[in-house]
Amino acid sequence: MIESSSRIGCINCGESLSPETRRCPHCGELQPTPLIDGGIAVGGVFLALVSIPLGAFTEGLIAIAGYGGAFIGVAMILGAVTRYIDIQSDRKRD
Ligand SMILES: [Zn+2]
Repeated sequence: MIESSSRIGCINCGESLSPETRRCPHCGELQPTPLIDGGIAVGGVFLALVSIPLGAFTEGLIAIAGYGGAFIGVAMILGAVTRYIDIQSDRKRD
C-alpha cells in the first residue's frame, strides 16, 4: 500500500498516522496538532510583546520578570517552529 503524502509519523514510534489521529494506535502517544503548535506560537508572540517592554521600561523584580517572560515567549515560538519543521521533514521522509 502506498502511503499518502498527507500522512504523518507518530512522534514516539514513527508509525504512519493520518493527520486527524490524535492518539497513536500503536503506542498510545498523544500526537501534537498544528492547531496546538499554532496556539503555542501565538501565545509566545503575545508573551514576548507584553514582556519585552516590561523588561525594558521597568526596574527591579518586574524587569526581571519581564525578561523572563520574554525569554519564555521566544522559547515557545522557537519550540513551536522547530516542531513544525520536524513534522514537515518527517512527512518528506515518508
Ligand atoms: Zn506511536
